[in-house]
This record gives sequence, C-alpha cells and structure tokens, in this order.
Amino acid sequence: MSSAVLTVRTDRDRSLRRRHPWIFSGAVERVHGSAEAGDVVEVRTPKGEFLAWAAYNPHSQIVARVWSFDHDQAVDETLVADRIETAVARRDGLWASTNSARLVFAESDLVPGLIADRYGSTVVIEVTAASSERWIDTITATLARLPGVESVYERSDLDVRSREGLAQRSGLRAGSEPPEFIELVEGGIRLLVDVRNGHKTGFYLDQRDNREALRTTVSPGERVLNVFAYTGAFSVVAAVAGATDVVAIDSSGPSLALAAKNLGINGFGPATTAATMLEADAFTELRTLRDRGERFDVIILDPPKLANSSRPEQLNRSTRAYKDINLLAFKLLSPGGRLMTFSCSGAVSDDLFQKVVAGAALDTQREAVIERHLHQSSDHPIHLAVPETSYLKGLICRVID
Ligand code: SAH
Repeated sequence: MSSAVLTVRTDRDRSLRRRHPWIFSGAVERVHGSAEAGDVVEVRTPKGEFLAWAAYNPHSQIVARVWSFDHDQAVDETLVADRIETAVARRDGLWASTNSARLVFAESDLVPGLIADRYGSTVVIEVTAASSERWIDTITATLARLPGVESVYERSDLDVRSREGLAQRSGLRAGSEPPEFIELVEGGIRLLVDVRNGHKTGFYLDQRDNREALRTTVSPGERVLNVFAYTGAFSVVAAVAGATDVVAIDSSGPSLALAAKNLGINGFGPATTAATMLEADAFTELRTLRDRGERFDVIILDPPKLANSSRPEQLNRSTRAYKDINLLAFKLLSPGGRLMTFSCSGAVSDDLFQKVVAGAALDTQREAVIERHLHQSSDHPIHLAVPETSYLKGLICRVID
C-alpha cells in the first residue's frame, strides 16, 4: 500500500458509506503523498475519518475504486487471491450443467476491474481498470492454479481501457495456447467459442439462463427468427426445442459461419432443420422481411449495447432504435407468437425498456402480455449497492390477439 491519503470533499462520503465503491474526480478534495495508477490509497473524510482502501487512478474519471471498507484489512496479494478464490467457489453449483461460466464479475465479486470467464480448461481474463492491472500477476497465478485450468488467456482489448489510461493488450498469460475453438457444453448443447477473436471474452455467458428460457418458449415445428444471432447460441437452442425453420440475422459473416457450424455439431442439418443465415444490417433486414409478409412464431432480439451512457441524447437515440426493432418484430409475429427481447445497456432501466416494448406493441396495434422478465445469469450477480452491475434485461412477450 502507498501511504498516500485521498480526502473526499465534505458530504461526498455518502455513496461510500452506502458501500458504492467508486470515487469520481469531482468528489476529491485532495491527494496527499505520492501515488501512481493502481496504488492503494487510504480514503478519508475532511475530518480525517477513515472511509476505505481504494486503488487510485489519476487518469480515470473514476479516480479510485474501493478494495476494502475495513481499516484493518490489508490490500495485498493474499486479499486479491482470496477474493478470486471466493468468487470461484460461489459458482460451484453451475458445473453440473455446464463447463463454462463467469468466475469473476468485477465489482460484484469485490475485484474491481476484473472479468474472468472460464471456457472448459481455459480462463479468459479482461482487465478493465488500473485496480486489477496492478495485481495482474497474482490474478493470473490464482486462476492458473484452479483445478483443471490449462491456460489463462488475456483479452484486455476493449475501448474502456483507454478511459483508464491503459493500453490494449491480448495474448496468452499462463499455460498452453488454447485451441482455435473451445467447445462450450451447456445443458446438452455444444457451442464453439473463439477466445482469440470472439466478442468480449469470446461468448455471451450472461445469456445462459435465457437460453434455458427459450427452450420452453419454442414448440416443435415452429419457425424462429434469431436477430443479432452472433454465433447462433439461441438458434441451436431453438432447434433443440424442435424448431424446424431457424432464420438468423447478423452483420458479421464470420459469426454466422460459426453459427452454421454450431448447428451442425449439434446434429442439425437440412434433413431436420431449415437454417437460413442472413448477413445483413438487422434494422434493414427486418423491414425487408416485413415487406415480404414473412411470419415467425418466435423472434429473439438481442442487439449490442445501444446506449453507451445515460446522457439524454444517448438515451433518446437508443430508445428510438429499441422501439424500431421491437415494432418490426411485433409486425413479424404470427398469431400467438412470442418475442424474446433484450437490452444490455446499463443506462436503459428495466422500467424504461418495458415502456419502450409496450410502446412498440401499441403502435402495431397488437395486444401482448409479458410472460417472463429476464436478467443476466447468476454468475453475473448484481451487487445491491452497485446498480451499475445490473445491465442485461429482457422480456418474453406473447401476442394474444
Ligand atoms: N445473441 C447473441 C449475442 C448478440 S451480440 C448470443 O446470444 O450469443 C450482438 C450481435 O449483433 C453481434 O454478433 C454483432 O455482430 C451483431 N450486430 C451489431 N450490429 C448489428 C446490426 N446493425 N445488424 C445486424 N447485426 C448486428
């Protein structure tokens, strides 16, 4: 730990007392002593009262991220290793049905700035803040020691790093090079994951519970449209549930090629399932399908994050886009059809999202009910004191007219 002290402004201790772990630049009165990015500093009130031990980063809007609210707790390699091991142990119940899960979900697991996803014997890490960058060797060693882990691979190649003053980086950190494709096994289905080139750490583990929900939403013989399909996880689940015609839309050709492969390795080919891969912009393609009078029994809408912040112009633009695709989807649903619709924008609240979807149904003059509310899976837990850890929300709506 450095001996530097960060003093917060008068009355800017409230969020810390409610255990929210971020200190924004505007809340800082002064920093006394020398501290570099990633160093642990003591956080105090202007009266000198202890508040927390936090990782300092002068290059970020979030100037400090709390490691501990306990004065007597040393922030060192042991603490970091313990936090990771405890987070991993919390996921023990998942391995009966899958070989892949998120092991560490940053602030929700009290390891600020670290994502660790396990795919079979490979752990992929993504370091998003200086707080975890400082302990990268401890993090790597702790994960490499886990039973059955053969590689620790890093994918710290996201834009968020630049906001922390960190350069992008990816590559092997420990063990052997992972194979070109890792086979994720989940509830009897298999999916190939490319951890080097795939999105984020390679795959959307946060949709696991929702893949399960789709299984009981699709009935045998139905026609399913999977929009923003990526590598076809929802398409495979729809086929497993008995869909006989699965159409996927994505703007990425390589993702759709992997989607086709994923259907194939699960035994779905032309003899059982008609699969159409449409490499296109979803906003345009949905209109084309509508103009052709196409109909689907189930539609999945899982767009990328459309709101990057809660600034009004961002929120307005994104809600218009959400409304647009949901409206088109309602038009494309057959009578009794179901819409599984998502938003992974943290800035769009559950409430706002539901209003947008309701507005879309209203504008198409279709009556629909919500059958289920969906969220990120349990290995992406929401920290009650940190609303920012809640980001994925979804609805299963059924048309009843
Ligand atoms: N549903 C997927 C994850 C979707 S991620 C799953 O469960 O695995 C979002 C996907 O949307 C990415 O594959 C990306 O290539 C695609 N995408 C982004 N913008 C798009 C657009 N305008 N039209 C079509 N696809 C788009």
